[in-house]
Amino acid sequence: MATVEYQRIGKSFGAVRIMRDISFKIEDHEFVVLLGPSGCGKTTLLRMTAGLEGISEGDLKIGEKRVNDVHPRDRSIAMVFQNYALYPTMKVYDNIAFSLEVAKVPPAEIRKKVEWAAATLNLTDYLGRYPKELSGGQRQRVAMGRAMVREAHVFLFDEPLSNLDAKLRAHMRTEIRQLHNRLKTTTIYVTHDQIEAMTMADKIVVMRAGKIEQIGSPDDVYDRPASKYVADFIGSSAINFLPGTVVVADGVPAVDTATGRVPIDPATTAKPGQKVIIGLRPTDILVDSAGPLAAKSVLLERLGHDAQLFCDGPDGRFIAVVDKAARFAEGSDVRFAVPTSKVHVFDAGTEVRI
Ligand code: ATP
Repeated sequence: MATVEYQRIGKSFGAVRIMRDISFKIEDHEFVVLLGPSGCGKTTLLRMTAGLEGISEGDLKIGEKRVNDVHPRDRSIAMVFQNYALYPTMKVYDNIAFSLEVAKVPPAEIRKKVEWAAATLNLTDYLGRYPKELSGGQRQRVAMGRAMVREAHVFLFDEPLSNLDAKLRAHMRTEIRQLHNRLKTTTIYVTHDQIEAMTMADKIVVMRAGKIEQIGSPDDVYDRPASKYVADFIGSSAINFLPGTVVVADGVPAVDTATGRVPIDPATTAKPGQKVIIGLRPTDILVDSAGPLAAKSVLLERLGHDAQLFCDGPDGRFIAVVDKAARFAEGSDVRFAVPTSKVHVFDAGTEVRI
C-alpha cells in the first residue's frame, strides 16, 4: 500500500515558519500535483516527503508507517529532479543501473530491470550513450528510468519538465501520464505550471504561502475555485475580475458592477448589499447584443482556433474568447452575456468563494 498522508505538517527554517497545518492524504495509485507560484513551499513539501528535509511539525505516513525519522533510502520513494541529476561520466545503462549496483542486486537481475525500463521508455537504442549525447527529453526519460528500476512505492517529481522547450514539454507530459497509467505508481508531482497540473493530475493541491488553498480534481478547481487566488491561478487565459454589490432584481439575485448587472446562481448564499468580486473566464463569455455587460473593443488577437477580444470597460481590461471570424471595429461598443452557472462569486473581503 503506497498511500502518503500528511498530518498537520509544518516547517520552519530557523525561526521562520514557512509552512503550517498541511493535512491531506494521497491514495494508492493516485497522481497528485502540488501546484503554486514560486516560494509557496511545494518543493520543500516534496523534499520533506523524500526525507531530504526535516519535518518541523506533524506526522508524515507512507503506507501505515510514520516515516518522519526514516532515512530517505528506506522510504521506498524515488525522486526525479528538475536538472535530472545524471552522472555525466556514466553511460545511460550505468546511470539507470547505478542504484541497483549500490544495493548489490545480482547482475542478471540488474540487466533485466534496466532493459525493461529502457524498453518502456523507448531508450533501448541509447543505453550506450553518455548523457551529453542525448536530447533534453531523452535525459528526462533516463532520470525516470532510474526511478523505475528501484521499484519504489512512490515517485516524486520536482518540476521535471521546466528545462524543456514548450513542444517537448507537452510531449513529455503525455509520456509521464501514460507511464503512470501503465505502472500505477503513486506519484507526487511539483509544478508551477497550471497546464501541467490540469492535464496530468488526478488531484491538484493548490498551495499559497505555505498553506493549502484548495484540493480537488482538475475539474473541481477549474469549475469551482475555492477562492479568487485559485480562480486566478487556474485557466489558460487570465480570468476577468469585476468588483460589485449583490442585489435582488425582480426576485433574481445579481451582482451590480460598473460593467453591468450580472445574474448569479439563485441558490447563492450571497446577501443583498454584500460586497463581492465576480470572476468570469474569457472562454465563458458570449458576445450578445442583448447581454448585460458592456465594454469597448480595443484589439482582436487571433490564436489560430479562436481569438481573444481585448476590451476596455469601466472596471478596466475585459477579455473574451470569440469566434476568430468575428470583426469588431476598434472603439466599438460590444455587449456580453455569461451563463449564470459560469459566474464565480467571491466575498470582496476574504476573497473566498460564496
Ligand atoms: P520554487 O517554485 O521557486 O521552487 P517553491 O514553491 O518550491 O518555489 P520552496 O522552495 O519550497 O518554494 O520555498 C518555500 C519558502 O521557504 C520560500 O519562502 C523559501 O525562501 C524558503 N526556503 C526554502 N528553503 C530554505 C532554506 N534552506 N532556508 C531558509 N528558507 C528556505
